[in-house]
Amino acid sequence: MARKCARVRCALLVNRANQNPHLNPLPQGEADAPAPGEGDFRHELLVNPRHVISAMPELAEVEWFRKQWDVGRGAAIVGLSLHARNRVFRGSDVRDLRQRLIGANLLSSHARGKRMLFKFSGENWLGIHLGMTGKVRVESPDYRPHKHDHIVLFQPERALVFTDSRQFGRVRFHHGADEPNWWTRSDAPEINSRAFDQRLVDQFLDRHRKAPIKAALLMQNGFPGIGNWMADEILWRAKILPSKRTGKLTSRERAALFRATKFVVQRSLETLGKDFSDPPRNWLIHQKWKRDGICPIHRKPLRHATVAGRTTAWCPRCQR
Ligand SMILES: [Zn+2]
Repeated sequence: MARKCARVRCALLVNRANQNPHLNPLPQGEADAPAPGEGDFRHELLVNPRHVISAMPELAEVEWFRKQWDVGRGAAIVGLSLHARNRVFRGSDVRDLRQRLIGANLLSSHARGKRMLFKFSGENWLGIHLGMTGKVRVESPDYRPHKHDHIVLFQPERALVFTDSRQFGRVRFHHGADEPNWWTRSDAPEINSRAFDQRLVDQFLDRHRKAPIKAALLMQNGFPGIGNWMADEILWRAKILPSKRTGKLTSRERAALFRATKFVVQRSLETLGKDFSDPPRNWLIHQKWKRDGICPIHRKPLRHATVAGRTTAWCPRCQR
């Protein structure tokens, strides 16, 4: 039975940097990072009384957030509130956005990796990247926007809200008949598509032979939507040491990596992506952030270290 605890999770963002020696401090000078968050661990932790899960949205969380505005499909935007000078709008013509979106109907939406695209009538498109703390949600039509609600689209019966307290997210606007360049300029096929196959993965790994496999898994132009927790889950399942050089993987390990990637993505979409319910109890994620976390298979203590700039957990017995 699916437990719906999104609200609890979103409400409790806990900074554990001071409690956990594996968590590095936030680097300075984060100014215009397009893919924010790499190297910052403090906000990856989202805690509720029963478990710990990654806060930084990856593919499955993004898919869940994308659907939140579905209730507004077919309805017109009748009002709009936005923080025009906020950095989440960097590179977008906010005036154009405001003029064109009012009166437009929300038609559909798509998720691709960690990005979302919302299509509106009148050839208008809104792209959203959640960054680290971005959230998409729905409020009542009389909602009063708060400090971190950078764009609120009012419809007669609801308000569609994008919130981002840390402002690493991004909102992009495009007017035109076709999908915007920044959306179609795809780095790689979706993992959940047929085009993402073993051959493609092998080619990508061949291009990054010197990188630790964990680093390769985090590259959005090879594994779109994979972030820190999914990468660890995949490597644990494939029984590969996260720090192992990509060029050292055997063909059997590459095959295991490919299968584990497909499996973790599929099952995450069926749980988190569907209703924000937990991934299966026997997954690494339930242990990963615990100081005394254990391997779900044989209950040996997990090890933790920084690999590819990210806090990484693995089982020294399963992964070599
Ligand atoms: Zn193990």
